Amino acid sequence: MIKVLIAEDNAVNRELLRELLEGRGYTVLEACDGQEALRMIEEAQPDLLLMDIGMPLLDGFAAIRRIRENPRLAALPVVAVTAYAMRGDREKILKAGFDGYLSKPLNPSSLTAEIDRLLIKSRHPADPDQINEDRPGSKTRSARPTGGT
Ligand code: MN
Repeated sequence: MIKVLIAEDNAVNRELLRELLEGRGYTVLEACDGQEALRMIEEAQPDLLLMDIGMPLLDGFAAIRRIRENPRLAALPVVAVTAYAMRGDREKILKAGFDGYLSKPLNPSSLTAEIDRLLIKSRHPADPDQINEDRPGSKTRSARPTGGT
């Protein structure tokens, strides 16, 4: 059972993420702000955190700093989910300690690809049947453009 914590202050976005993740078989937990997210990470020990940047009480940047400073939490894979779209923000987010970055509006296939990537890296790989697509030699060839400019 893979637990994914969603930290997001917008209820509509939480619901969208929940539907996408439950559709893939993940157990979903929700936090509405950064403080609640930190508390739930300690209590529920999720396998992955999807975290909004703009949140009340503790924003995503403050929350990721506390996560990375805490030896018990430091290894948790954390993906930023944010509407930030300015040039340079991706680098800023990765430098802050996030493992990945997804922009809103969310692209469901980008979301699932990013989750698979991080769960493979961490101690709880996802269903091997779903991971196979990303392994060299399986679908790489058919996805490659066959010609043109
Ligand atoms: Mn927000």
